[in-house]
Parts: sequence; C-alpha cells; structure tokens
Amino acid sequence: MTEQDFAVPLETPKYYHPDPRYREHSWIGDYGEVYRRFLNDPLLFWKERAAEIEWFEPFDEVMEWEFPYCRWYLNGKLNVTTNCIDRHVRDGRANKVALFWRGEQGEEKAYTYSQLLRNVCAFANALKRIGVQKGDRVCIYMPVVPEQVIAMLACARIGAVHTVVFGGFGVHALNQRIRDSGSRVVITSDVSMRRGKEIQLKPIVEEAVVNAPSVEAIIVHRRSTPGVELHSEIELDFYEILEKESNTCEPEVMDAEDPLFLLYTSGTTGSPKGIIHACGGYAVGTQYTTKYVLDIKDDDVYWCTADPGWITGHSYVVYGPLLNGATVFLTETTPDFPDPGIWWKLIRDYGVTVFYTAPTAIRMFMRVGEHWPDRYDLSSLRILASVGEPLNPEAFEWFYHHIGRDRCPIVDTWWQTETGMHMITTMVGEPMRPGFAGKPIPGVMADVVDMDGKPVEPGNGGYLVIKHPWPSMMRSVYNNDERYRQYWTTIDRLYTATDLAVKGHDGNIMVIGRADDLIIVAGHNIGTAEVESALVSHEAVAEAAVIGVPDPVKGNQIKAFVILRDGYGGSDRLKSDLRYHVRMTVGPIAMPSEIKYMDSLPKTRSGKIMRRVLKAQELGMDPGDTSTLED
Ligand code: ATP
Ligand code: MG
Repeated sequence: MTEQDFAVPLETPKYYHPDPRYREHSWIGDYGEVYRRFLNDPLLFWKERAAEIEWFEPFDEVMEWEFPYCRWYLNGKLNVTTNCIDRHVRDGRANKVALFWRGEQGEEKAYTYSQLLRNVCAFANALKRIGVQKGDRVCIYMPVVPEQVIAMLACARIGAVHTVVFGGFGVHALNQRIRDSGSRVVITSDVSMRRGKEIQLKPIVEEAVVNAPSVEAIIVHRRSTPGVELHSEIELDFYEILEKESNTCEPEVMDAEDPLFLLYTSGTTGSPKGIIHACGGYAVGTQYTTKYVLDIKDDDVYWCTADPGWITGHSYVVYGPLLNGATVFLTETTPDFPDPGIWWKLIRDYGVTVFYTAPTAIRMFMRVGEHWPDRYDLSSLRILASVGEPLNPEAFEWFYHHIGRDRCPIVDTWWQTETGMHMITTMVGEPMRPGFAGKPIPGVMADVVDMDGKPVEPGNGGYLVIKHPWPSMMRSVYNNDERYRQYWTTIDRLYTATDLAVKGHDGNIMVIGRADDLIIVAGHNIGTAEVESALVSHEAVAEAAVIGVPDPVKGNQIKAFVILRDGYGGSDRLKSDLRYHVRMTVGPIAMPSEIKYMDSLPKTRSGKIMRRVLKAQELGMDPGDTSTLED
C-alpha cells in the first residue's frame, strides 16, 4: 500500500458527551492529564501500575528491551492466583461473591471469594497428585461453567500453562491445539448445553486425543444424570479427585516472565496462532485496564458475555475482574434462547452494572428489534463496553439508546489476543465518537502509519501500529517464533497489528478493516468496515460483509453480502437503494457492484465475520484453515 487515499469521508465529527459525574467518579480521572504523565516517563507509569498487585519478591527493573523481545518486571516473583483470590479473602472480601453463574435451564450457583479459593486449591492439589508440574501444558475444553474458571486458576496456582479451547469446537480444531501445545492433561465436561439440548463433549475429546501422544489423563466434569461412564484408565472424575484433596495449596512462586497461558487466536484472517503470555506483565496489564478502562468498583456486578475460551474471556471474565476483587456474572446462556429478551432479563434480575459484549451480538439484537430490551428495566446499568470488531456507528447508536437509555458511556475497546489487554478506547467520561474506537489508553503509544512507519496525515488510512512495548504483550508465538518476529519486523521495528485504521483530526482512531481484507478499487484502498458500516446504517440492513472480486478494469470491484432486518424483504429495488446509499455515505468508489442477500454470514466461533471464506467461495478457491468457522 503506497497511497493513503482511503475513501474515508470524515464529516463533521459527532460526539456524545457523558454526564460529567462519570469522569468525576472514575478511577482514571482526567485522561489527557494521565496520558501526559505516562508520556513523560513511561517506565515510571508502569512501575506504579505494578505496585497495584502483590509480589512475593520485588522486581529489579521495570523492563528490558532487546528487539524484538521484551522482558517486564525483571526477577519479580508472584503468583497470579494469590492476587486474584487470596488477597481479597485477606482484605475483607472473603464473603463477597466472586462468581455468579447461571445455566441455560435457569440453574444458579454462586461462589464467594473464600469458596473459590478452596475449590481452586483443592483442584490444584489434584492436578499435582496426577503429576502435573510447573511448565506443563494443560488443555481446558469446557462449556461456560464455574469449573472452567476453577480449572484455569488451579493451573495458574501450580504454574501449569493452561491452553483453553473454546467448548464449541469440533474434533479437528481440538486435536490441532492439543498437539501443537503438547498438553499432558485435558480437562472437559461430559456435556455442554445449547438451546435446551445437551451436546456431548466427551466423545469429541476421545476422538481428539487419538493421535495426541502427549495426553496422559482426561479429567471429566460430569454434569448430566446419570453421569457418563468413565471407561479408560486415563479418565478421572473432576469432583472425585477434587474432594479427596486438602483445600489449601501453597502457590507456586512464579517468575514474572514465566508463561501463564497459551491461547490460540480466533483465526479470522489465517490459521490460529498460539500466543504466549507471561505471569507478571499480563497480571499488571489486565488489573490496570479492568480497573481504569472498565472502571470497575467494589459494588459493581460485572458481566462480560465472552466465553472464557477467548482472550476477552481470559482477560476480562477471569483474570482482570478477579484481580480487582469484582463480582463476575457468568452464564452459559445463548443470546436468543429461549427468546432474544434473555440477556436483558438477566441484566435486570442480577442488577448488572457494567456490561461488556460484542458488535455481532448488538447487530443480532438490532435485527430482531428493540421491543425485546424495551420490556426490561435496565436502570442498573452504568457502563457499556464492546470488543471484537468495529462497532459500526449504527450499532453504537442502537446500543447507546436502547440499552444504555442515553445514559451509559460506551467503551469500545480495540485490542487483540497478542496485546493481552485493552490498547485503544474512549475512557469513561471522555466524549465518544461513534465509529471510532477512541485514543490510546495511558500506557500505550499507538499510531496510524504508512509502510515505512511514517505517521499518515489525519483523515488518511494506514496501518495501526504500537510504538512502544507494554507489559502484557505476547512473548512469542508457540512453536513459531518467526511468526512472532514478523509482528515487529514488517513495519520499521514497530508492532504491526495487521489492522487498517484512520486517525481523525481529534486523535480518535477508527479501525477500518483488517490488512488481509483490504480492497483496492481503481488504485484506491478501501477498508471493509466503512462500506459495511454504510450498509448497516440503512434501515433495512442488519449485518453486512464486503469483499473484493477481480475486475479487468478497476483491479477489483466490491461485492456485498447483506442480512436484512426482520420485516424487510429482499428485492432488486432495495439493492439499487443500498448501492445508492453507499455512494452517498462513503463515495462512488466504494459502491458495491453486486449485492447478495444472505440468511447468515460465515463467522468465527467468537462471532467475527470471516471475509476470507466468502471470498474463497466466490472465487472457487481453497478457504484455508476453517477450524474456527462456526457450523
Ligand atoms: P487471527 O489473528 O487469527 O486472524 P483475530 O484477529 O480475529 O484472529 P483476536 O485476537 O481474537 O483474533 O481479535 C483481534 C482483532 O479483532 C483485532 O486485530 C481487530 O481486527 C478486531 N477487533 C477487536 N476489537 C476491536 C474493536 N474494538 N474495533 C475494531 N476491531 C476490533
Ligand atoms: Mg489477529
């Protein structure tokens, strides 16, 4: 990409201004002021953040940078779980609820911090008893149940490296991840629940371990009655082994740089990469962002709808909130079962105050209509947040009006599995600009640059990069360090996020697509998100995906796939309307030459649109790795 002539019309900015009391009462206070302090002395900033967690032994130096490898909090010793649990038990939160869980059938469970500690310790002892040692990989393949969180924390307690695999994956995807990680143990449940039906997980595990010689034991959390039979010698019952153990367990003393977990990326643009995160920096980064970005307070009831199997679940369902001693609401519920009102009902029933979800869910709710949330009292809500894909202006507005009821700030967080923590957002209390994720948070230096690393003029598109290391950055890609190096060596020794973005004159950053999905039409670079947002801003459209297909004259032309909102029928007339609408919103260059009506779009299991699959279908090519494709 040499030119920066993205077809981005930056019209007069439109802002939403939150009630000033939000800023007054926020942890962050004055964003601009804090950001300047960070720039003044970045290492001092991160030293102060590290003081918010507990160390067994203090670190000597904040960081050491040997391009492209970075070590943080050198020689510091800690255990993430004592920070997540023991500390709060000691600090007067022993009887505070750490975890509320609600099953699909309405079953409920709650764990106080002291109950969570006892369970984690007992399960950690059980893992040790079967021979799991510090540094061993343990694969967790479970539905969203408290036992999943307990399993993760038990690994961290003894220094085992967990690799959580989303419980909706099939044999092939699970097998790939078990083998790549060389897991010694697999922890699973007999079944997961989806839309009132039991889905058998154990047979999937049995098949997935067939040619995975590293696996020595399978631990099964049995939920259904009567319990499934455990046949082979290597299968053990979760609670049977847990209940035999003492419920205290000395935490393993971990070096700040010891790995905490391994997690595969969503695989939206290519094959999933096994991202490695380290104990010290990850704990500091997620503790900091959960507190200052999501603004969690002691009396909040916090709900992040991500599955713990994704990075959002790791950082903002499990580690970040527990590091802050928060009350986390966790549920196995699907957003439209038994009806699309279920999430709003849960917010009302549990008094959820901070609610964190994804654009794919918001667009689904827009499609079925606002009469669903309108039925429920959502006045407990204080803050809304989004992650995963660009939050289209239309989706922002809907979320703001119909869920936040024109009251709650929306924190649109841009970050990645690789970054471990939030990087760009609009801090609570700052003016929000729909369509723009926001500005780099204090602690992060982000910019939009050209191929040579030169910042592009405001209003022009370019590559999103991070210019300075941060504590929760990935340490490597498992079994593929070369891939790790590429993140830092592609553009002028900067961390390349492989996303395209535009920076406005006000410093706000808009993510306009992924570099892999870039469409070049007649020499103009077009990001997918802006065309898709234009389509979604039409009243008939609920969701859209665009791809480039070869054109002899223009190089590429744009083909759009759209899902209509309930109540709209697809017609040729509407197609012309939509093309005209894109022409008027983005410009003639971005006008789709073809539009196709769809009932669904190919998505990753984490809910992101996989444009490469649409493109492969269109061109009759091989779609590449589809292990993460939904259905
Ligand atoms: P892969 O790297 O394997 O293709 P992935 O990038 O989807 O998968 P994740 O790490 O789960 O894997 O997702 C990070 C990506 O999600 C970001 O690079 C960006 O493209 C997108 N993203 C996340 N949050 C936002 C946001 N708030 N606005 C826009 N895009 C976002
Ligand atoms: Mg990615």
